[in-house]
Amino acid sequence: MQRGRGFRIGRLFGIDIRIDWTWLIIFALVTYSLGVVLGELQVDWEPELRWGIAAASALLFFVSVLAHELAHSLVSQAYGNPVDSITLFLFGGVAEIREEPETAMGEFFMAIVGPLSSLVIGGVLLLLVGLLAEPVAPAEDPAALIGQLGPIALMATWVGSVNLVLAAFNMIPGFPLDGGRVLRSILWAITGNLRAATRWATWVGQGFGWLMIVSGISMVFGVTIPFLGTGLVNGLWLAFIGWYLNNAAEQSYQRVVIQDILEGVPVTRMMRKDPPTTSPSESVESLVYESIMGTDEHAFPVLDNGQLKGIVTLADVRSVPRERWPETTVREIMTPVKECALTRSDRDAAEAMQKLATCDVHELPIMDNGQLAGVLRRQDLIQWLRLHTESGGWGQGPVRG
Ligand SMILES: [Zn+2]
Repeated sequence: MQRGRGFRIGRLFGIDIRIDWTWLIIFALVTYSLGVVLGELQVDWEPELRWGIAAASALLFFVSVLAHELAHSLVSQAYGNPVDSITLFLFGGVAEIREEPETAMGEFFMAIVGPLSSLVIGGVLLLLVGLLAEPVAPAEDPAALIGQLGPIALMATWVGSVNLVLAAFNMIPGFPLDGGRVLRSILWAITGNLRAATRWATWVGQGFGWLMIVSGISMVFGVTIPFLGTGLVNGLWLAFIGWYLNNAAEQSYQRVVIQDILEGVPVTRMMRKDPPTTSPSESVESLVYESIMGTDEHAFPVLDNGQLKGIVTLADVRSVPRERWPETTVREIMTPVKECALTRSDRDAAEAMQKLATCDVHELPIMDNGQLAGVLRRQDLIQWLRLHTESGGWGQGPVRG
């Protein structure tokens, strides 16, 4: 995941809280549909109160999702795995946890606290409504019963129910949902094989994904599914979530396999030694004609007396208008070394891969005692993975590079 996704709204427990723009769609959709429903249930409410309660409920929904993700994050931090950020987006929230848990037990607790916190929030809210709401006249029709609730009680009822749905959905036992992680941790504990456990939990995840797609399409064509109902919008929405789950399952599985292959392989195996370099005082014009045109490199470490000062990429060059190339120096356009993602030659490729992804860069300078030892490029990593996944024998034998 990219670090720059969404915009940052604050920081809690050392974790950046971010909102992706797709989340705004959910906020608008929830507010609108709640406002419309309230208009039918509470005919005597002023429009301001109705829309105010709808927007406040949508906001509390956001707080609930955040609490769910925070629960995952705090347990992860307790196990020593730092969490960079929590991003809220179209399908809920995602915590950017730097590493997968190292033990089945850690995975189990980290996964289960999310749905558990949603369950507790939902249960407490509904219980409070049951205890504190003024006694209402018994009514046959649930809509009439809801119509008797005051604004706060109604909001608590809605947010409480949504939290229970959140808990239930996340406990679907398909990887990478929380329930799938719980299933994986149990399989992992039994078999001791993380990759196989992931494969099985992924199959279950894909199975549920297909089930949702098929159910959703059936609903579009008028079939009524228990608890989910029928209709075009509900059906399309369910099919969409199923499709998303299916993709997420496959991608998460691939990520686990790749991590598994790259773990313990030193970056020096696949790095480029003696990469072409440039100096801070070189002009962009000379960089283009002396270095870039003769190679297929996309990035050049900038060295000054053997010291790494930064990295300059094709994208940096493109940002300078052609006519300003002769008078612009590399120093003016490079990414200075303190902002660069770096790695060391004693680190493994799995960690470097994470860094390439989280920093959203295409190459990592590799440092050794303050000296540039080489460069690890994304394409070299991909090349290496290709060698070790497609041509059978390579993966089993001694590692070559
Ligand atoms: Zn969760």
